[in-house]
Amino acid sequence: MKTKTIVRPSELRTYAYCPRLYFFETHIALKRGFREKLRLALGRVSHIVIEFIARIRGYNVEEPMEADLGKVLLKGRPDYYKVIHGRAIVFEIKTSRGPSKGIWLGDALQAIAYATILLKRGAREAVIALDYRGSRRILRVSGDHVAMLFKTIDEVRLVKEWGVIPFPDRGLYKCLRCRYAGICYAIDRDVPEGLEEPGSWVKGSKVITG
Ligand code: SF4
Repeated sequence: MKTKTIVRPSELRTYAYCPRLYFFETHIALKRGFREKLRLALGRVSHIVIEFIARIRGYNVEEPMEADLGKVLLKGRPDYYKVIHGRAIVFEIKTSRGPSKGIWLGDALQAIAYATILLKRGAREAVIALDYRGSRRILRVSGDHVAMLFKTIDEVRLVKEWGVIPFPDRGLYKCLRCRYAGICYAIDRDVPEGLEEPGSWVKGSKVITG
């Protein structure tokens, strides 16, 4: 019997940031540089402080959860959440700043994934809250958001299971500091012009506003 593909909400976030980067992280996974390791460690410290306060306030903190979506097992641990009278609220902490309005696509997909697991576990409605540096953004999860989540999961499966190389969502700053830039640009020398690659839709959907 074929085992299910495990998809983690954090993978959806990387895919939304750059689908091609997700391919490299999945199939090559070069070691992280010192600056990246330091940034992750600092982020972890601020997570610990906020999660400690959330625990005191009665939230479920970093609790493992999963949902069977047929060929996929969606599995992860939200920063913290609560379900009150059938209404789920999922919080994700980010050390970066949010967009001027709304929620970054990747952050929204990550939190919508947790919200969808809670909806499958019986919650009647769900809200996500992104705690960016200096601001909190809240979004009620709709059917369109869940459809976007499933579309992303389908594409992630193509990359993870079948090794399909997806769209490179280029940006000057992120490509300059990307440890896969050399191979990424080399691949594109052989890609025919006008080819429709999975993930190209993320370019025009960087922010979710509702
Ligand atoms: S070089 Fe740019 S487009 Fe290529 S994987 Fe890295 S971030 Fe994505």
